[in-house]
Amino acid sequence: MRLETLPSEFQEALPVLEKIKAAGFEAYFVGGSVRDALLQRPIHDVDIASSSYPEETKRIFDRTVDVGIEHGTVLVLENNREYEVTTFRTEDVYVDYRRPSKVSFVRSLEEDLKRRDFTINALALDENGQVIDLFQGLDDLENQILRAVGTAAERFNEDALRIMRGFRFQAALDFDLEQDTFVAMKDCAPLLEKISVERIFIEFDKLLLAPFWRKGLEALLTSGAIEFLPDLKGSRAKLERLFDLASDFFFSASEQAWAALLLALDVQNVKDFLKKWKTSREFANKVQDLVEIAAIRSERDLTKRDCYDYDIDLLLQAEELRQAQGLAVDFSAIQNLDASLTIHNKQEMVVNGGMLMQVFGFEPGPKLGQILKELEYAIVDGRLPNELEAIYAYIEEKK
Ligand code: ATP
Ligand code: MG
Repeated sequence: MRLETLPSEFQEALPVLEKIKAAGFEAYFVGGSVRDALLQRPIHDVDIASSSYPEETKRIFDRTVDVGIEHGTVLVLENNREYEVTTFRTEDVYVDYRRPSKVSFVRSLEEDLKRRDFTINALALDENGQVIDLFQGLDDLENQILRAVGTAAERFNEDALRIMRGFRFQAALDFDLEQDTFVAMKDCAPLLEKISVERIFIEFDKLLLAPFWRKGLEALLTSGAIEFLPDLKGSRAKLERLFDLASDFFFSASEQAWAALLLALDVQNVKDFLKKWKTSREFANKVQDLVEIAAIRSERDLTKRDCYDYDIDLLLQAEELRQAQGLAVDFSAIQNLDASLTIHNKQEMVVNGGMLMQVFGFEPGPKLGQILKELEYAIVDGRLPNELEAIYAYIEEKK
């Protein structure tokens, strides 16, 4: 098959292919961009595979960055864009199930495509728009099927992360898993325990944020693979609660998706759970905030103080979750509360500790901190204007 007109992303990248070819090597567009172009979906990264070794690639281009030489990847800067050019490679014996024990560079495209995960991800495209399809990936694209390249069980044994990727692509593309592929994913699922949690998080997170997340999650649960993910053993029934969310709902941010997951699980300690998933502290804080907001909202309406304490974006995300649960919502109330805040953080207060020490002779220490906190909340609640005179009078009165 030949693409008559190359999408603009490929057109822009053509000079990179041409320069590599002019230097006597082979070069192709590969992976997700080829798949997405054929599906007429938006293309993000245009990745290039080449027979040139990293040192050879670097000699061809003026501007390159070493981003993963040991994996054969060189970042090429051309036309103000970045392209990953990766040497054709095979991945030999996998020892610890975590990462390839050894990457071997090869000169053949076929060897490179063979080690890719699914047939729809193993397509290559040349500079003339000719699709190279060695594993019937085009048929699978047409029939909306995810099929492992080669013998499925072997491929998932080599790298069990591919199991998560399978569910993730289901969620992204609304494709079905081919029978043998699904059976192998089920059989190899215990190997997920050997995969680094950071890699699993990335795939699970992409799954949850994808438009067909229900489909991916359903397969993750029914396959039993969920049993081998951090702290999710025995959680199938609870996670099925997520399917009660409105059928047209999809998550607008990672923290929202994970908060929904934790709420469905009834997890008491959000931070401990997310520690096992090795997420950043910043991310864990956001999820924790969302879970707190959900608890507050189930009791009462939000106040100015809530708006001050929590990021408006998180308040709105929590409200979206309520909407998806069929609960009463009021988005404009949140916007109005936020707009009515006289300060958004304590730096916006017209007084600070130093000033209070000078004017009232307070000593530095917890007492001063307490007074400042009291002033801060009085201002937030609207009981006290954020003005020097009023604040000083307030302190005089309390002294
Ligand atoms: P996305 O659109 O989300 O970026 P993608 O298919 O480009 O999807 P990447 O993770 O960017 O996915 O990987 C690029 C390509 O590298 C894939 O299309 C696939 O050919 C190959 N690949 C990535 N991870 C693996 C893996 N664990 N095993 C085998 N091949 C893989
Ligand atoms: Mg990609």
